[in-house]
Amino acid sequence: MSVKLIQMFDTTLRDGEQAPGAAMSMHEKIGLAKKLEKLGVGVIEAGFARSSKTDFDAIRQIAKCVKDSTICSLARANEKDIESAAEALHDARRSRIHIFLATSDLHLEQKLRMSREQALELAVKSVTKAVKLCDEVQFSFEDASRSDFAFLQQMTRAVVSCGATIVNVPDTVGFLLPSDVKPLFEAVANAADDRAVISAHMHNDLGLACANSLAAIEAGATQVEATINGIGERSGNAALEEIAVIIKTKLSHAYETRIATRLLSIVSDEVARISAMPKAPNKAIVGQNAFSHGSGIHQDGVLKRTDTYESFSADLVGAKAARIILTRHSGGSAIRRVLHENAIAVDDFDSFYAIFKRQAEANKIISSEMLKNMALI
Ligand code: MN
Repeated sequence: MSVKLIQMFDTTLRDGEQAPGAAMSMHEKIGLAKKLEKLGVGVIEAGFARSSKTDFDAIRQIAKCVKDSTICSLARANEKDIESAAEALHDARRSRIHIFLATSDLHLEQKLRMSREQALELAVKSVTKAVKLCDEVQFSFEDASRSDFAFLQQMTRAVVSCGATIVNVPDTVGFLLPSDVKPLFEAVANAADDRAVISAHMHNDLGLACANSLAAIEAGATQVEATINGIGERSGNAALEEIAVIIKTKLSHAYETRIATRLLSIVSDEVARISAMPKAPNKAIVGQNAFSHGSGIHQDGVLKRTDTYESFSADLVGAKAARIILTRHSGGSAIRRVLHENAIAVDDFDSFYAIFKRQAEANKIISSEMLKNMALI
């Protein structure tokens, strides 16, 4: 069986940045785009050109200096948004305009006050305009997961017929279960009839964004949209690092991404910093505790062999394996190791251990500095 390439579409600079308080400066956006290019993402959604001057200018600069990734701008289905996106993308080696329009009756009736017929007409008009202004057009059916299948198929046929080559299926409000994904993606793929790449855009409101992205890949999607650290609107998007590492460690017989996974830790730290969204210590793959151990049995195991309590190599994501944290749960082998690493000499380990235990009852973590002081008692 041949290995299928899954295109990673990074939207940290667009959907990620739409997280409350995560807005980045132009300088920060450009710096991150360069890192994403090195990381190997196929498409960088650099922003939403018409939404702000900073976004417009950042897309323009990123299009000038990032050449290995396709550069994309979001646009609503109207002429001004499309023109603004095209202008910002002018210098890109490969440019993509990403048009979105809601397809659910809830959004059409309550938000846009528009009929299905009007939406179809607008979608066709927008794609027809955009294909003349960039290298490729992606169309997203906003709130696709709560849309009528027959209408989604009608929309798919319409946008593909006038030149959209990527059709994105967003679970805008994080509504799907993994078992719901296949019928939805098959419906869209049948309508696209091999004339477009099928893409998934999953949100994490129920904690299922990564699982749903993988379900979409299994259902035939060959592009997945994601953000570093999973940042994004509300509970965020699918986390790029989770999808990339799962494919590399568990599904490499069937799929590959071009992500240089060794850079994930460094890019993740950068995103946490510039988005002002610190990572939960227990964040999968890139959290501070992902390879840290505080309890005696686990510490003893990883000091003998890291895979006793680490399911994949820390090296794979550029992190340090078997990080030993001394706590009240720690045991002799971990304490001996940290003493040795810090060149702290202890004459009588048993009496030192008793002092350690007393101190550890009163402190959540025992630092090497505290350990040095204990050795002087
Ligand atoms: Mn989104």
